[in-house]
Amino acid sequence: MRPILAISGLSKQFGGVTALAGVDLTVEEGEILGVVGPNGSGKTTLFNVVTGVHKPSGGTVLFRGRDITGLAPHAISRTGIGYTFQQAMAFAGLGVLENVQIAGEHARATGGASPWPTPQALLDFVGLSALAGEKAGVLPFGSLRLLGLALALATRPSLLLLDEPAAGLNDRETSALVGLVRQLPGHGITVCVIDHDMKLMQMLCRRLAVLDFGSKIADGPTEAVLADPKVLDVYLGG
Ligand code: ADP
Repeated sequence: MRPILAISGLSKQFGGVTALAGVDLTVEEGEILGVVGPNGSGKTTLFNVVTGVHKPSGGTVLFRGRDITGLAPHAISRTGIGYTFQQAMAFAGLGVLENVQIAGEHARATGGASPWPTPQALLDFVGLSALAGEKAGVLPFGSLRLLGLALALATRPSLLLLDEPAAGLNDRETSALVGLVRQLPGHGITVCVIDHDMKLMQMLCRRLAVLDFGSKIADGPTEAVLADPKVLDVYLGG
């Protein structure tokens, strides 16, 4: 089967810094793929190039077979790639439900049927119904993160990119988030998660790709990747 996302030879230089050094990576339809690596290994840059925040220095990104390399972020979002930010991008002065309504109104014009037909259904899914009428600005951190997920899902993505989704969450909030994310493939949403937290990635992903200094050094089933001496070296500072 054709991968939903196919990245080939992707490179990115910032002045003299090589953030990505020719990365090949595929995301298969219906999977939850994890991209891990130490700080500075290029994870965020990969995410930023795929979403159009940065233009790559070389290489290509195909989404459902279509070349989206270097398109503007709004154009890429409209093709069906959604993403969450570490800081939830909600309108603080508007209600929780209103935020989801607005995000849904800006959904891509070609958006297919959503598994969550109304903003309220989406709030139910992420467990925020009880807070629907609250202003987003007064939400505690964990709830704000869930709202960020709801806002991303409101755009009806078929591929969702998650950037350190559990950073700053406590254990209970992390389990709730893992439970939600694991349901997404069943709703037709493929997931790619970027994080350095191996415990979280083990809970979420059956396959991991590992970046180190902008290069992919491993890619395969989670257990095999975690037992790979090259990966242990990077993580244990060998
Ligand atoms: P990670 O997300 O794995 O921590 P990044 O993609 O943020 O890694 O960073 C990879 C490398 O690129 C680092 O050396 C970082 O300093 C550099 N880098 C990232 N973004 C920029 C930028 N906007 N300008 C200059 N250098 C950057």
